[in-house]
Amino acid sequence: MTMLFTEFSFIPEIIRSIKDAGYKNPSPIQEQAIPEILNGNDIRGSARTGSGKTAAFLLPALHRLATTSPLSGKGPRLLILSPTRELGSQIAAQVEKYSKYLPKIKSVCIGGGVPYHKQLSKMKKPYDILFATPGRRLDFIKKGKISFPRLEVFIVDEADRMLDMGFIDPLKRVLAATPEDKQTLFFSATFGRKVSELSNLMLQNPVDIAIESDAPKHENIEQKLYYTNGLPHKKSLLTHFLSTEEIDNIIVFTSTKVHANELVIELREEGLNAAALHGDMHQRKRTDTINKMRRG
Ligand code: AMP
Repeated sequence: MTMLFTEFSFIPEIIRSIKDAGYKNPSPIQEQAIPEILNGNDIRGSARTGSGKTAAFLLPALHRLATTSPLSGKGPRLLILSPTRELGSQIAAQVEKYSKYLPKIKSVCIGGGVPYHKQLSKMKKPYDILFATPGRRLDFIKKGKISFPRLEVFIVDEADRMLDMGFIDPLKRVLAATPEDKQTLFFSATFGRKVSELSNLMLQNPVDIAIESDAPKHENIEQKLYYTNGLPHKKSLLTHFLSTEEIDNIIVFTSTKVHANELVIELREEGLNAAALHGDMHQRKRTDTINKMRRG
């Protein structure tokens, strides 16, 4: 039997937003995770993008935020850490969607790209949700600009990517600044040794939920490996691929940010439409690249 969202004990405001989003039935991870999260349990979720994991953790978290905080003090009640600002803003967009009938819920995003003083002034007003990447702006914690006396729920999304990006120490520092008795929802696509160790450190009696989503199978993706004998060969091979008519959009990964910039210049010289995307770029430029890619 397929479940219905109305079978969870969500408040009407959330049920309405789910209806507006057009979701008919909860996805498998939502079916499993939502009741556990509503019960206050910690979650160790193995799920990929496309499984509906974002709604799985956001819906019950927002349900909780709809009631007045039992704790006094300042700071967020919900902290969401994600590896990149892009992912953070995707999650923020979903928060907006699911909290449209909960106008009192306020969010703040911190991280690179937004001017320091703007972030700071937003944090002076009361807010409920803080989105952050662990890398930048952690100095807000050190400087006492953020504290977590009211923190009820801590969500870590794509933990494996955070570790790949070298965010282990910043993550531990954030953890140390949060209260003991919070609920932690930990998600990762993979659970290697380091991710498992981190999850053990962060979670208390977690409920394990592993979902094989359909999305990552990508059956229409063919993988090929080419050996090249030096940079000129590699470049001519790349130009060859990029000029192939059947291909509209390509993402090329480079080893460094500098290489990405250089490659963009070279490709443009060859008349190809190319743009860079990396962490040294201003947020506006990054968004611009993504929008251009979307528009083809
Ligand atoms: P995620 O795996 O969280 O990145 O979600 C993938 C996409 O699925 C998002 O665009 C969501 O808006 C959408 N989504 C989430 N839950 C459901 C659902 N129960 N039914 C249909 N779509 C959903």
